[in-house]
Amino acid sequence: MYKVMAVNCGSSSLKYKLYEMPEEKVLCSGLAERIGHDDGIFKIKFDGKEDKRVLPIPDHAVAVNLVLEALTKFGIVKSLDEIKCVGHRVVQGGKYFSHSVDFDDESEAIIAKLIPLDPLHAPAHLVGYHAFKDALPDVPAIAVFDTAFHQTMEEEDYLYPIPYEWSQKYDCRRYGAHGTSHQYLANKAIKEYLGGKPNSRIITCHIGSGASLAAVRDGKCVATTMGLTPLGGVMMGTRTGDMDPSVTDYLATCTGLDVHELYDVFNKKSGLLGVSGISNDTRDIEAAALQGNERAILTSNLFARRVADFIGSYFVRLGGADMMVFSAGIGENSPYYRRLILERVEEALGLKIDYKLNESIYGGKEAVISLPGSSMIVAVIPTDEEVMIARDCYKRIA
Ligand code: ADP
Repeated sequence: MYKVMAVNCGSSSLKYKLYEMPEEKVLCSGLAERIGHDDGIFKIKFDGKEDKRVLPIPDHAVAVNLVLEALTKFGIVKSLDEIKCVGHRVVQGGKYFSHSVDFDDESEAIIAKLIPLDPLHAPAHLVGYHAFKDALPDVPAIAVFDTAFHQTMEEEDYLYPIPYEWSQKYDCRRYGAHGTSHQYLANKAIKEYLGGKPNSRIITCHIGSGASLAAVRDGKCVATTMGLTPLGGVMMGTRTGDMDPSVTDYLATCTGLDVHELYDVFNKKSGLLGVSGISNDTRDIEAAALQGNERAILTSNLFARRVADFIGSYFVRLGGADMMVFSAGIGENSPYYRRLILERVEEALGLKIDYKLNESIYGGKEAVISLPGSSMIVAVIPTDEEVMIARDCYKRIA
């Protein structure tokens, strides 16, 4: 039995889960939020209990120490020596990583080199890595990349039609994201729903505040919606998803904003929030739409259309599909949005959906929502990126 820690460091947060492997038993989970503030929040859940404290958390090193102190204080571990590996989620691995690797000087240098591709998360990943390394110097660390699963895409799926020399020189291409989630969902679909069928064709829809789809054949990603960065693909909570690139040039002229300012608007003030003017959270938009708010209805329809269009595209890309999976905040919890999406593809794809059952699937439930005569299985499967990190940790040490 080994205890391993899955860690997700963001710019001002640190989420963690301690597992006992290979049982995949969660010993505790929690997060430190508002790192850098005097009113930081530290939470831990274990054994059905929860502890929350509000205190200054000036930096990630303090957050890591809070985590480690809590583990011994609450008797979750007797000694920190019990932790045998720390797995760090890393958003951007560029073209360099097709699987998890040791987080060491060599991989750190590459992750640091990729900061221009992910200025928001990459510095936080590095800070988190060092904070754990300082606290647990003898414990191996691994980096688990959100982009790794998508490295099996072929050139025609990942190249942009820009001058080829730029693709080469600047590594400007589609990398995708959410790969750990897509891989988890596809693996589970193949194993538990498709009986290990060879050449299985699966469309995975990870639809949360950030949203992406992947087309997966035989367990390998062939296409995904996010691009050079997570801004690409479907419309999201605050992100535009794909647009005609001339929008930037035109809006720069109209608004006087420069490309960097527009990029910020496209990332943080667009999507569900920008179109609805209400919220980036589908719960608020759904409530407004159900009360007849026309902007909310339009926002919901636009969102569903954009997801539906990619489902159609991936159905063709895979030459059909055996299964479609909905997951993440919206995919797992919103019967309303699942229905809006499925209604837009069901006729063309020959789906038969049990919409009554769909209504009752939320809050972490897993279920098949298609009916027996459906051309493919449509299921809701809660994602679990942390267990994938824990599994890679276990592989590293066992
Ligand atoms: P991310 O990991 O990208 O931050 P999540 O996958 O946690 O996002 O999704 C969060 C989003 O899911 C919310 O912004 C909201 O739009 C939507 N959502 C709908 N219902 C729920 C729910 N019951 N719980 C959490 N999120 C929900």
